[in-house]
Amino acid sequence: MTAEHVKVLIIGSGPAGYTAAIYAARAGLNPVLYQGNQPGGQLMTTNEVENFPGYPDGVLGPQMMQDFERQAARFGTSIRRGAATKVDFSGYPHRVWIDDTKEIIADAVIISTGASAKWLGIPSEQRLNGSGVSACAVCDGFFYRNQDVAVVGGGDTACEEAHYLSKLCNRVYMLVRKSEMRASKIMQERVLKTPNITVLFNTETEEILGESTVTGVRIRNNKTQEVRELSIAGFFVAIGHKPNTEIFQGQLELDKNGYIITKPGSTYTSVPGVFACGDVQDAVYRQAVTAAGTGCMAALDAERWLAMQEVAMEV
Ligand code: NDP
Repeated sequence: MTAEHVKVLIIGSGPAGYTAAIYAARAGLNPVLYQGNQPGGQLMTTNEVENFPGYPDGVLGPQMMQDFERQAARFGTSIRRGAATKVDFSGYPHRVWIDDTKEIIADAVIISTGASAKWLGIPSEQRLNGSGVSACAVCDGFFYRNQDVAVVGGGDTACEEAHYLSKLCNRVYMLVRKSEMRASKIMQERVLKTPNITVLFNTETEEILGESTVTGVRIRNNKTQEVRELSIAGFFVAIGHKPNTEIFQGQLELDKNGYIITKPGSTYTSVPGVFACGDVQDAVYRQAVTAAGTGCMAALDAERWLAMQEVAMEV
């Protein structure tokens, strides 16, 4: 099969990818966007989104992603099903394979493949996902104000989530599986000093309880084997995220956790003509609005970079 040559290829269809597409399409770059294995990205598994500016009454995550897609399509983005399965950035133009078969040759590539939250892997967590189980306190904490919630994890993210929730909720239980936390000292001290956060060490989650919404959690102390139930309305999983960068290993510079390294204040990666935006290069903010912001930056960076190449070719 002959390869298809495109000017701008966007990989991924979360807020970052679609925003990059809107900007690239309006700049006349005829972008082609492949949606990946989870069209719409992480927001497809959330319910209400109340913190995205421009939606004063809130919006359902899947609805918002349909709006993003419609807006990207309106300006002529070619939106396609399929996932990038292999890339070769060693030469120029860049080569990307879709679903192991179709080859795309791209003058510029914008990577917006996102990150995936890690989950405990118990059936009740999946069943109640979006109905009390969440992986984002900033997104969903507001729904549990003045109620009791639990956060599982002992890293910086768990501490940050617990601290954020402590300002909204009545009580926050932190469930830490070891006898100590992995989080930085300063973050640990912050949660240990917060009166309405109760840290339970050596504690594992056996089951999240509730029929249609979360009503409690059954926990086990792995030292004493004591099993007990806590009454909670929200269960926040904060055991880390995994950036979706497997196919970029050895092709782009990644940090120790696998996130794509971008040049500060830009979306430039270690390879000229390859740009990264959204959660795939952001372990800190991870919000739809920040992802959209960097998506805009990636399209502008790509547009300017392509223009510079054209000037260089003419000289
Ligand atoms: P981490 O990998 O650092 O921590 C994950 C935590 O979850 C650990 O305490 C781990 O326990 C626990 N865990 C993992 N799997 C399970 C499981 N199945 N059941 C129960 N607990 C589990 O992830 P983070 O997201 O916290 O942080 C990722 C990176 O981002 C870190 O480098 C962190 O410093 C950084 N970060 C920085 C922030 C900041 O500077 N403001 C904010 C947030 C993150 P165990 O220790 O037992 O393995």
